[in-house]
Amino acid sequence: MKLSWKQGLSAWAAMSCSLLLAAWLNYYLSDNGFIKEPNQTYDYIVVGAGTSGCVLAAKLAGSNSKVLVIEAGGEPPWYSWIPLIAPILQGSQHDWRFRTVPQKFAAGALHGNQAFWPQGKMVGGSGQMNFLIHTTGSPGDFDSWKVPGWDSQTMKNTLEGLTCWTKGNVKPKPFGTRPSFLLDDEPEMCSVPVLTDIENSTSCSDKMQHHQCSSAAIKLQRVNATEKPLLKAFLDAGRACGHSVSDMDRWSDAGSFMASHNTIDGLAGQRWSTYLSHLMPAMKTHNNLHVLTKSSVTKLVWKRNKVIGIQYLDNDGRIKHVKATREVILSAGTIKTTQILQQSGVGPPHVLEPLDIPIKADLPVGENLQDHLQVPLFVELNSSVSMNVIKMLNPRQFWNYMVHGKGALATSGIEGIATLTKTRENGKSSKPYGMLILFNMGSINADVYTSVANIKKEAFHRWFPKSSSLSQEGFVLISVCLHPRSRGHVRIISTDPTQPPEIDPAYLNHEYDVQCSIDTIKQGVELLNTDAFRALGAKLHWPTFPECGGKQGSDNQRYMECLVRTAALTMYHPAGTAAMGREDNPDAVVDPELRVRGVTGLRVVDASVLPRLPSGPPNSVLIAIADRAADFILEEKINIRK
Ligand SMILES: Cc1cc2nc3c(=O)[nH]c(=O)nc-3n(C[C@H](O)[C@H](O)[C@H](O)COP(=O)(O)OP(=O)(O)OC[C@H]3O[C@@H](n4cnc5c(N)ncnc54)[C@H](O)[C@@H]3O)c2cc1C
Repeated sequence: MKLSWKQGLSAWAAMSCSLLLAAWLNYYLSDNGFIKEPNQTYDYIVVGAGTSGCVLAAKLAGSNSKVLVIEAGGEPPWYSWIPLIAPILQGSQHDWRFRTVPQKFAAGALHGNQAFWPQGKMVGGSGQMNFLIHTTGSPGDFDSWKVPGWDSQTMKNTLEGLTCWTKGNVKPKPFGTRPSFLLDDEPEMCSVPVLTDIENSTSCSDKMQHHQCSSAAIKLQRVNATEKPLLKAFLDAGRACGHSVSDMDRWSDAGSFMASHNTIDGLAGQRWSTYLSHLMPAMKTHNNLHVLTKSSVTKLVWKRNKVIGIQYLDNDGRIKHVKATREVILSAGTIKTTQILQQSGVGPPHVLEPLDIPIKADLPVGENLQDHLQVPLFVELNSSVSMNVIKMLNPRQFWNYMVHGKGALATSGIEGIATLTKTRENGKSSKPYGMLILFNMGSINADVYTSVANIKKEAFHRWFPKSSSLSQEGFVLISVCLHPRSRGHVRIISTDPTQPPEIDPAYLNHEYDVQCSIDTIKQGVELLNTDAFRALGAKLHWPTFPECGGKQGSDNQRYMECLVRTAALTMYHPAGTAAMGREDNPDAVVDPELRVRGVTGLRVVDASVLPRLPSGPPNSVLIAIADRAADFILEEKINIRK
């Protein structure tokens, strides 16, 4: 059949349009990197698409290696992007719902003295359900690790590399360079001292040019004290009590009060996780990156002492395998990474031998478990400066959020944080020992809170009186001991990988943790006696737990001790069970480049490698660690080629 040139042109145009349409549909309607069946072999397999796994996988994929990310959960639900309602993810199908064993010295207000440990089970991991507080730790944290390559100077450089300023005309760099922390556009930001050297730049635009932002930047929303009277009172009270007040999280040991910086995209009003900032863009641009969800890794596959792949259960419970030619990297979070290692024969004999698991490497996997504990106390106010359920349910809030991405729903409720170095006796500790957090919420739903945190109802009402009223004004003052000395463990108790391991954080086993918590609470209580808080009618409700006796208050040491042992709750930061360390350190599970000692082809990159927790919530420090780990892996790849 012969076509006229007109018919030929039309056919060509129709075909091109169809191809373009198909390509467009394929791009937008395909899962953009999500796969149903993996290939047989990849260069790298990253286990877990959480805070660390997303950063690592994105960076490895940028090097053209074939990368598989395998994640036990599914895609995060739409509401996980709304900052204020993050707590409703706890106890849901997107949470691993771990539980500790009954605690001997703590958790008196909890049923069976058992703490519930939420951990994210979805793409984004715990970073997709956390409370969005950004902190960078302090230099002393890293120096105290005594691990080559992880000293304060190196971490300072890494964190500076991750920090970015933006204003108006700064163009994002293409993806694939260093990720950055990207602050919301605020003119006064530049005059604020931040991460050392940038302070020395002469002008605002210097600083901007110096720190251009990559499109993988992690956005930080700074709570603005001029718009938030409660935060202003917190900062004024800190100043009145002799603490320093800074506008930024500083790379410094000087404890200070500051407005919280939260990982929220201020323009869209949505959670900013490493899924959004790293994995999602990498999935769109790198077809060598595959992400398999709803597939749970159960074991490592070995060839003698080398890890050559993984075994996993697919969504239908079938056992499957995938091979890795270079490395398997465990980023499954502290609990599950520990479980996978132990199930695969990497762990201490006293855990593996009773279960007849052949030992591949005798290492203290699962020991050194630590967590931050928080003691939340309720402060009633008589001024209308706080958030509560009635204000939140106002249709204007919804409109404001849906249309403008603004309002209470676009915040985490965390307004101020303070790292404490000044002691009550006017001495100074060498590094921060405590943290105070201002959570602006006057009413707390008793049903939700008691069920997600396993709190006894009666204890709740003695602890948060009045807060159940939907229109209550007030806030929660959270005290955290930053460097707990109690150490617990994670141990498998069955060879069945679907059985959760035994989790015992041994909370408040060490006397220091009790006193450190008491000192932090006392510093918080002092704030409430300042003019700034008196003007708002602040009244602290000391919990009236019967076991703590009749005389409540910070002067009664017996009451304070009992308060801590009854009311301390997890801060959700389990860490340390596969700690990094020098070759000669018997407590180290991974070497300074995060390779598991005594075997090959295996690395750990997540919160379990922290030898000790940093001075604050760890999410941003973990991002820095994953970023460095990717560099180690890629450097090794280059060296092998040479
Ligand atoms: C409720 C809550 C609030 C928090 N608030 C803050 C905060 O405000 N600021 C802060 O800095 N930090 C906060 N944190 C802590 C912080 O989010 C975590 O420390 C951090 O996300 C841990 O990162 P990770 O990479 O170690 O593990 P995760 O982010 O937990 O990622 C592990 C991933 O591995 C997957 N996985 C596990 N097992 C398997 C398996 N067998 N096979 C395949 N995939 C698997 C999991 O489903 C998960 O997606 C909070 C945590 C929680 C839970």
